[in-house]
Amino acid sequence: MEAIKIRGLKQNNLKNISLDIPKNKIVVFTGVSGSGKSSIVFDTIAAESQRQMNETYSAWVRGRLPKYEKPYVESIENLNPSVIIDQSRLGGNARSTVGTISDMYSALRLLFSRIGKPSIGPASYFSFNNPNGMCPTCAGIGKIMDFDVHNIIDEEKSFDEGCFLLPAFGPGKYYWKVYRKPEYFRTDVKWKDLSEKEQNFLLYGSYTVDGERVDKKVEGVYKQFKRLVLMKGPEEQNDYTL
Ligand SMILES: [Zn+2]
Repeated sequence: MEAIKIRGLKQNNLKNISLDIPKNKIVVFTGVSGSGKSSIVFDTIAAESQRQMNETYSAWVRGRLPKYEKPYVESIENLNPSVIIDQSRLGGNARSTVGTISDMYSALRLLFSRIGKPSIGPASYFSFNNPNGMCPTCAGIGKIMDFDVHNIIDEEKSFDEGCFLLPAFGPGKYYWKVYRKPEYFRTDVKWKDLSEKEQNFLLYGSYTVDGERVDKKVEGVYKQFKRLVLMKGPEEQNDYTL
């Protein structure tokens, strides 16, 4: 089997190295830091392969491609075109995936929309970045931030005594007044002794976790805290204090 033959390699700190690298095999370069792994892989094989390939393009295209120095080597034979995947972080954001960065994602969406069974419609429905396709729970990010609501409740206190450990819910404060609805829950009963219905009203604004809003002013402490603090990015969080 033919191999990539490198002769007289003096790139960087390499001292006249000659080696054959088998093709169609997974080849791993290992060694201590500074031993020359990157000099062989990136600065020699990848650089020369890219350089040779770039020479086949027009001057206009070449001017827009990265420049590769000719490696300091006597000869390299049987080189293939190379794909360089280095260790640097890819740009992008939380919505970037291998699919979006490589653009395979668009082709896959199209594929699924054309031949997927059962069919759910246009390609955009297969996108986690599109409201039609994204998971409603995580908005397509793939992870959610949540908090344990018990950490902001003093179960031994009633609402009137300030059972919610958030400044704006302290006795007499703004949200304490908004949420103080004696018609929906007993304001003078310790949190731990309230019924589930009463607790749900205070946490979710409804008698069940996903139920209808009972009072249009009461969103529920859990929902409100989540919306105002957790659903925003860190840079936006400081402009609102509960
Ligand atoms: Zn999700």
